[in-house]
Amino acid sequence: MITSLLVSALLATGAAACRNVVAPGTDDGPGGTTTDAPTFLSEVNATALRLSNEANQAGWVQNTFITPDTEAMAARSNEALITAVTRYAKSAAGYDNVEGPADVRRQLNVLKNALTMAAPADQKETAELTQLVASMEGEYGRGKFCGDGESGEDCLDIEEITEILAKDRDPARVRAAWEGWHTISPPMKKSYARFVELSNKGAKELGFADTGAMWRSKYDMPPDEFSKELDRLWEQLRPFYLSLHTYVRAKLRAKYGDVVPADGPMPAHLLGNIWAQDWTNIYDIVGPAGGGRAASLTDTLRVRKVTPVEMTRFGERFFTSLGFDALPQTFWERSLFVKPRDREVVCHASAWNINNVDDLRMKMCIDQTEEDFRVIHHELGHNFYSRAYNQQPVIFRDGANDGFHEAIGDTIALSVTPEYLVKVGLLDRAPDASGDIRLLLRAALERLAFLPFGLVVDQWRWRVFSGEVTPDRYNSAWWELRERYQGVRPPSPRGEDHFDPGAKYHVPANTPYSRYFLASVLQFQFHRALAKEAACATPLHRCSIYGSAPAGKRLQATLAMGQSRPWPDALEALTGQRQMDATAMADYFAPLKTWLDEQNKGQKVGW
Ligand SMILES: [Zn+2]
Repeated sequence: MITSLLVSALLATGAAACRNVVAPGTDDGPGGTTTDAPTFLSEVNATALRLSNEANQAGWVQNTFITPDTEAMAARSNEALITAVTRYAKSAAGYDNVEGPADVRRQLNVLKNALTMAAPADQKETAELTQLVASMEGEYGRGKFCGDGESGEDCLDIEEITEILAKDRDPARVRAAWEGWHTISPPMKKSYARFVELSNKGAKELGFADTGAMWRSKYDMPPDEFSKELDRLWEQLRPFYLSLHTYVRAKLRAKYGDVVPADGPMPAHLLGNIWAQDWTNIYDIVGPAGGGRAASLTDTLRVRKVTPVEMTRFGERFFTSLGFDALPQTFWERSLFVKPRDREVVCHASAWNINNVDDLRMKMCIDQTEEDFRVIHHELGHNFYSRAYNQQPVIFRDGANDGFHEAIGDTIALSVTPEYLVKVGLLDRAPDASGDIRLLLRAALERLAFLPFGLVVDQWRWRVFSGEVTPDRYNSAWWELRERYQGVRPPSPRGEDHFDPGAKYHVPANTPYSRYFLASVLQFQFHRALAKEAACATPLHRCSIYGSAPAGKRLQATLAMGQSRPWPDALEALTGQRQMDATAMADYFAPLKTWLDEQNKGQKVGW
């Protein structure tokens, strides 16, 4: 996840700082003073920067020290930003028929589509809306499961529940932990329904059908076409997902028996992750037998006592090997790398550029695990991206689309291959090709398994925002979608007294989710192109672009564009293609698909 100008701007806007900035066609102020577009934009760029920086500062403190006061302060600065951006976005819509240089025209278009949450014109409602989001996020951050008669230290926080889901193999305890985590969200349900009402009101005032349509409008194509693009990409990979699902189900059934059906959806709590969005943790159950247990990166990190800061240094060195400048000293001084013991923090990893220039920070409760080693690369991708485009006008300081922002760090993480780990001294010897299926299976359990969940979260919210799913069907609609796309079912019936979507961070925090699906697809497309640039002679899954200046140059040029061009231009600069293409992911995993289909002989594929 990233918190940057765009994200904050989307969340909030400065309190109508410039009364004289009134676009043609708006009804602000007597007589409607008109300002020419370049003057309007320079005012927007200056004010958005100031308010975004303030919101970042308050947000950083809130995230790293959750108290009612920091929540109130973060809500206030977000409210200021949201009000201003909403006002600017409305004003920008008033310039729709104004001709101008391409650069000016694009800034106006981007601005018009900049919001994740639009505040209603009514100030009281705006305050309520921002307060709702801050309190839901805080509620999630403080979320704990207390069993019967338990309190305080006995209660489990998300870190501990994550650990149980990952490691415990007792189905009863895993189920209790899964159900326990889902007790944090029912209190948010009412807030969420109200939040939907208010944010839709704001979106309508901006001319969008609802908040979901507003989210889909920011991809340089009509909202409906964007939905179709996602369907097209998913169809490219769905047969592959079905193969993986079928294989994993058979292995789980062998382990757990009838609780896992032979041909139906899998129980959602047995996949090693609270949301069944990443199955890496059950590799020990589903991995092929024999071949011994290769030393994992997690083992190495623990044995060698590689600290969270040192783990982050490895990530930094990958980027510098490609020609990027090192991270600023302040990054090391101001970031949060470990979970503090004396206060509540939002542990969900995020990357920040506080001043939208070079005050880069990462906030993460790092564990010495392979997973977190990769997450560090993910977050640093945001940091390096946000610094690369810091020369652009403020409005353009964002990813080509939000999928790009999420994909960059993961693209680098795809280059964390055994050969790379040998090169940097984290592995003694790279396994030969006979171990490739294991590597690919492990990667597929993370990335391929994620794809349908990457669709579900926004499929649900698009329906909620449009009114197709009303509060009395929140939970049933959630599970219908999860069964349809992921092929999973809850361990026990879940009525409407539950609010299971709220147990996923991005829902209470109101962060759009399609970006993660796009990122999953894009990272392989990026990797395939950069591997070619780096003249990799190995199969895609064994290629690391570490140290490749030509690959680094191409990457840097794309990142520096920010959002100044439509994303197909940025995609072309990086890959030579103008269309998103999931075949790169299929290419990467091709040997695994063949292998899975052999394993699945005689099984019913799908559910
Ligand atoms: Zn991210």
